[in-house]
Amino acid sequence: MQFLLHIDVLAARLRAPETLDDLWANCIAGNLNGWILSSTVSSLSERLSTAPKSESLRAGLKQAIECLSIFPVTAKELRDGLEAPERMDIALAVSCAKALNLDGIVTLDPTAFKNSGATVLEPKQAEALLKTGKPVDSAPLLDVGASYPKIMEAVEASMAPVVRSGKFILGSIVEELEEAVARYCESKYAVGVSSGTDALLISLMAAGIGPGDEVITTPYTFFATAGSIVRTGARPVFVDIDPVTFNIDSAKIEEKLTANTRAIMPVHLYGQSAEMALLLDLARAKNLIVVEDAAQAIGSAYNGKKAGGMGDFGCFSFFPTKNLGGFGDGGMVTVQSEENWDRLKVLRNHGSQPKYFHKTVGGNFRLDALQAAVIQAKLPFLDGWIENRRRNAALYKKLFHEAGLNDRVQTPDEIVAPHTYNQFVVRVGGHRDALRKHLAERRISTEIYYPLCLHMQECFSELGYQEGGFPEAEKAAKETLALPVYPELTERQIEYIVDGVRQFFEKPA
Ligand SMILES: *Cc1c(COP(=O)(O)O)cnc(C)c1O
Repeated sequence: MQFLLHIDVLAARLRAPETLDDLWANCIAGNLNGWILSSTVSSLSERLSTAPKSESLRAGLKQAIECLSIFPVTAKELRDGLEAPERMDIALAVSCAKALNLDGIVTLDPTAFKNSGATVLEPKQAEALLKTGKPVDSAPLLDVGASYPKIMEAVEASMAPVVRSGKFILGSIVEELEEAVARYCESKYAVGVSSGTDALLISLMAAGIGPGDEVITTPYTFFATAGSIVRTGARPVFVDIDPVTFNIDSAKIEEKLTANTRAIMPVHLYGQSAEMALLLDLARAKNLIVVEDAAQAIGSAYNGKKAGGMGDFGCFSFFPTKNLGGFGDGGMVTVQSEENWDRLKVLRNHGSQPKYFHKTVGGNFRLDALQAAVIQAKLPFLDGWIENRRRNAALYKKLFHEAGLNDRVQTPDEIVAPHTYNQFVVRVGGHRDALRKHLAERRISTEIYYPLCLHMQECFSELGYQEGGFPEAEKAAKETLALPVYPELTERQIEYIVDGVRQFFEKPA
């Protein structure tokens, strides 16, 4: 839960450090994300400088700042606060609670907030609410804001120097992120690009793929995988998927090779690496380029090798729904050879080398410095988030099993570890659409990844594929459903979701 601790609560604690112990213990333990306004900190520190015993008060304030998140009040909020009909501290607290969608404001003086429309609690009420927990009546598929109490300080500290420098295109922050991501993905080099889609396109361009070439890939993936192949002028050649992992069935690749095959593009779908051993052997034997679509799989691995570091190119996305998401679009290509590294850097900047001289035609595929700053600040949190996703997946599996639903709900098998669960996708046979509707009525949001296979897309009709061509992919598109699995999803929400599924299957037909 997230509360704003009003200035009176913090002042009381500083006056008598033994008060409000319960609330504080919850903040320290992380059961409560407590927020204070930056204006609260400055006005209290001013009070401290004139107070006797100011050393112990200072220590108290320091402790508070360490266990609480600080909401940086903007100039506009200060101006609005001054104009507001109520007291300025009340107006600021209310606008912060609204901006962050907090669960309430904790104060010793609730009457001061009457008519504010905010949810206001006395410390005892807040403690009681923490004990019982919020009643659970919904679960979003993803709650981007839920990570803010942990990351905002680091993100803002990382963005501010970029804003102040006025240098917004590439520059040192992009280079720092490239080095950090290369290290994280155990690759030699990395090149920041404008999106995961552009990561795929620029990799194919760097590999010299074009008209007349064929690229092997899966029909059960996000559109960009095949879209980028077609944009180079090459032809996507689909291979059906493995019904358990939903990834390309490597055993079926060889029969699709022709004299025109130039590359293989496996996708590590939902956060589980494709079976790479056979695929890489084939690529080596036939001299094919391997472009890994690792957009959903940062941090995943196969036989101890990180996703994106096994092929010639590893393509990542920082789209906000991915496990490492920016505040907008962004992407990264990891590479192992210096030659490819150089090519990518030239291609992402219109093929310009030196400036205004073009030997090749590239594009504007650059990663924004501001996005790089956000992602750089978030990267240290990634392993913890993956851990939480894995914990959530394990809890789902346990609860579905205990509910006796194993024959109704097929949960994802971790065939290739670690699965990083960018999505938690279950297979529920022909009940999928009815189940989705039933869950939506309980305010549980779900998604279908993906309802129409790529070989069936209208824009690819010229490729000549037919319905029935890839039976496993087509079956998966009809039978699967993604449930919420984001890191901050609570145990009680997962219980609520599993219970919703149980009710559905217990309903008389
Ligand atoms: C998200 C995604 C992409 C594209 O990434 P963007 O950053 O949205 O362009 C490509 N492939 C797969 C499998 C994806 O999930």
